[in-house]
Amino acid sequence: MPFDTFIQCPWCKTQYPNANVSHCTNCRGTLEYSITSDELGSEPPIAPRVLPTKFKRRIKYTGNVMTLIGIIFTIPFFWTILFPLIGIFCWRRGLRIANDELIPLEQGKATVGEIIDIRKDYTQSLNGESPSIVEFVFKVNGKTYTGNVGNIYESVHLTKKIGDKLWVVYMPEEPEKSSIWPPLV
Ligand SMILES: [Zn+2]
Repeated sequence: MPFDTFIQCPWCKTQYPNANVSHCTNCRGTLEYSITSDELGSEPPIAPRVLPTKFKRRIKYTGNVMTLIGIIFTIPFFWTILFPLIGIFCWRRGLRIANDELIPLEQGKATVGEIIDIRKDYTQSLNGESPSIVEFVFKVNGKTYTGNVGNIYESVHLTKKIGDKLWVVYMPEEPEKSSIWPPLV
């Protein structure tokens, strides 16, 4: 299948027909980890890391169901009271979920973690499709922490499986805040 020879930018989702590109020409994000998807790849750069703008926009708005619902309930119904209240609640919740992912990616410390679960998140859907959640564990000072990343609308279960090792970035002061480097496409 020619599909297998394509790699997809984890940051902006641009697809490339060959695996010889190291950086995305569209958003300049690294593609290194996409090429060798079964391997861990080199350690993430030292924080603070600069994330592609397109990626941040997708996590905060265009790929964030909670934020989109918030905007839909707020802007067209600004002249009512109830809908904007619901809307602003969702909008803020969406941005908080986004920041919980973006801040560790930008500022977190890197360590090796392991995938313990990949499942569908049926509480949300976009165009009739539910996103996946990937749950992982990692150790900080001998203590095991569990983290997860959600809102994944790609077939992550086809490229990743339970038991796979991956880079986790976490906030040393608050290891509950963590994410996967690079983001899962
Ligand atoms: Zn890109």
